[in-house]
Amino acid sequence: MHITDIFQASSPTFSFEFFPPKTPASSERLYHAIRELEPLKPSFVSVTYGAGGSTRDLTHDLVVRARKELNVTTIPHLTCVCHQQADIQAVLARYAEHGICNILALGGDPPRDLAGYDKANDAFQHAEDLVRFIKDFSNPQLDANSGGRGFGIGVAGFPEGHPGTPNRLTEMDYLKQKVDAGADYICTQLFFDNHDFYDFRERCELAGINIPIVAGIMPIVSAKGMNRMAELSAGSRFPAPLLRSIQRAGDDTDAVKRVGIHWATEQCRDLLDHHVAGIHFYTLNQSDATRQIFQYLGARDSASLRGK
Ligand SMILES: Cc1cc2nc3c(=O)[nH]c(=O)nc-3n(C[C@H](O)[C@H](O)[C@H](O)COP(=O)(O)OP(=O)(O)OC[C@H]3O[C@@H](n4cnc5c(N)ncnc54)[C@H](O)[C@@H]3O)c2cc1C
Repeated sequence: MHITDIFQASSPTFSFEFFPPKTPASSERLYHAIRELEPLKPSFVSVTYGAGGSTRDLTHDLVVRARKELNVTTIPHLTCVCHQQADIQAVLARYAEHGICNILALGGDPPRDLAGYDKANDAFQHAEDLVRFIKDFSNPQLDANSGGRGFGIGVAGFPEGHPGTPNRLTEMDYLKQKVDAGADYICTQLFFDNHDFYDFRERCELAGINIPIVAGIMPIVSAKGMNRMAELSAGSRFPAPLLRSIQRAGDDTDAVKRVGIHWATEQCRDLLDHHVAGIHFYTLNQSDATRQIFQYLGARDSASLRGK
């Protein structure tokens, strides 16, 4: 289903993000998690995209399998990293053949393990260029699946700002350019203080950005996970009250998890009360935290979460 139809039919959306597993054991764990999350009836799921060649095929495989087995709209992430135009053309054609009609278009994290990587060699320097290319892509199968609208396109947004552009006014200009290039929705980086999201949403409105903005939520489930999150999430801020509770929990791993899930639940409750267009759960390929958040919100599934 085209993403614009999803937002029109059932907003707010509830979506889950997975990453492609690298081993048979992690693949088993992922499919177990997916089966446990299936009854929550997500609006869509998305699959991340790495920098290396083989993990990129794993993204494709997971996208195709999840779409088939779950019968849910599955959105692949795609990045500019290490790609020429012909590569992107081939990736898009392959997705179109498999009935995929939405893409999350990203700049991409610089690869940690690719020696000699030089961004200047990538065909697209910014997600904006990738969005434009995807928008221009045309294919008969895609036309049939999308009602002639081409790929539905999502882009990333950073409520707390992206470290690559410390000037927050310029950053908003770039975001506007990226949206004007053809984006249908924005999905945000994780954040722990909803005020950052609300302020970002207002700044988007002031900049004339009027597409749905989906809030990215990642519950803390362990102290180790929190540290990793801090490393990877482009400067996310951890509010003192959250850190205080995590500190209180100390070595009690169950208590840390309860604190993280409680915090994320309260964020979701507040976002729903403030008419968020959608909530995107960074699941880390696990089902526990997301399922508990639904339970604590009193919801059986996404449809009941949309109820008042
Ligand atoms: C929801 C979500 C999903 C993600 N999934 C993945 C994934 O699957 N794989 C992965 O590798 N990474 C992923 N990331 C991380 C993301 O790729 C990085 O954070 C990346 O650094 C920024 O991506 P972007 O799409 O915002 O890039 P861009 O829009 O290209 O922005 C990158 C930086 O360049 C600046 N910029 C943008 N346009 C211009 C311009 N015209 N001129 C000068 N500067 C400009 C921006 O302000 C920003 O600082 C994800 C992030 C989010 C929020």
